[in-house]
Amino acid sequence: MSRTRYSKDWKEIATSIKESCDWRCSRCNRPCLRPGENPQGWSKSQRRVYNLQVHHHNFNPSDNRIENLICLCSACHLYYHQFRRGNISPGQLSLFSEDSCS
Ligand SMILES: [Zn+2]
Ligand SMILES: [Zn+2]
Repeated sequence: MSRTRYSKDWKEIATSIKESCDWRCSRCNRPCLRPGENPQGWSKSQRRVYNLQVHHHNFNPSDNRIENLICLCSACHLYYHQFRRGNISPGQLSLFSEDSCS
């Protein structure tokens, strides 16, 4: 596993981070959906809640050191950003890219 030249392969990094935390949110321990998992009958918003994302601990998207990256479900991810910026509505959840806050 390469620990250098992160930004080039963000997708790969993100996936390895998620695998290392067993596809669970580091904050609430919610088990999240793996790629391709698509439970029948789930609404889009339901799936979004169980979408594991990689958050930059220091809010610097270019700092892709392993120790700066944590797995969060969308709800917890939003919480962290709300906490920091003070004023994000739940609708803004969709502002996050598929799997990171960058
Ligand atoms: Zn969570
Ligand atoms: Zn984030």
